[in-house]
Amino acid sequence: MLRSVSHPEIYAVGDAAAARTEASGELRMACATAMPVGSHAGKNIVAELRGEEPKPLSFRYYVQCLSIGRRNGLIQPVSADDSPKRTIITGKTAAFVKEQVVRSTVRTLRLAAR
Ligand SMILES: Cc1cc2nc3c(=O)[nH]c(=O)nc-3n(C[C@H](O)[C@H](O)[C@H](O)COP(=O)(O)OP(=O)(O)OC[C@H]3O[C@@H](n4cnc5c(N)ncnc54)[C@H](O)[C@@H]3O)c2cc1C
Repeated sequence: MLRSVSHPEIYAVGDAAAARTEASGELRMACATAMPVGSHAGKNIVAELRGEEPKPLSFRYYVQCLSIGRRNGLIQPVSADDSPKRTIITGKTAAFVKEQVVRSTVRTLRLAAR
């Protein structure tokens, strides 16, 4: 439910939380975690204010996506438990894909703010 264990009236998300899901175990400290988990916590808070039941987080990773400088990177699919699969993309192609991911994140946040 994303609540603090010691202070259940407090929701904990992002890098400040050690959140777990059944599929993935303990979640990474990553923006790939912080955004969906933060959004889920927000929905749960609204649900509680409306007298509805908060829902447990259902979440898994599909890919690990890293940039290593501007011209190198790593894209690697992962299993539901976040363990890496064999396929990897590296070099400029991976750096390009990662840049598109970052750009689309910024676009999505701008749209959400509107
Ligand atoms: C160099 C670097 C590269 C990274 N690359 C990736 C990546 O490629 N992919 C990925 O998934 N993740 C990446 N991460 C990790 C990702 O940035 C974090 O996991 C994510 O931002 C965590 O989100 P958050 O909301 O928990 O915290 P943050 O994004 O750190 O947000 C916390 C906010 O709280 C504010 N704040 C702090 N103290 C106070 C206070 N007292 N009062 C009010 N506000 C306060 C801060 O200013 C900040 O805006 C990277 C991190 C770093 C440092």
